Amino acid sequence: MKFLLFIGFLSAIYFLFFKKKSLTPPTSDHSQEEAMIPCAKCGTYVQIKETFMRDGKYYCSRECLGV
Ligand SMILES: [Zn+2]
Repeated sequence: MKFLLFIGFLSAIYFLFFKKKSLTPPTSDHSQEEAMIPCAKCGTYVQIKETFMRDGKYYCSRECLGV
């Protein structure tokens, strides 16, 4: 009887751990936001959120954008 309780206890821990792991929110959106991409003109790597975009290309600065 004690052995069965022990097994049940172990599986409960395993289940909790597994559940906790699967509940971790996906980080794909966040990592995409932090992604570094090369400037279409000078090749400097910059974060996507700090780039200037035109015609589907990313530029590191207004100078490279040609404005
Ligand atoms: Zn540039």
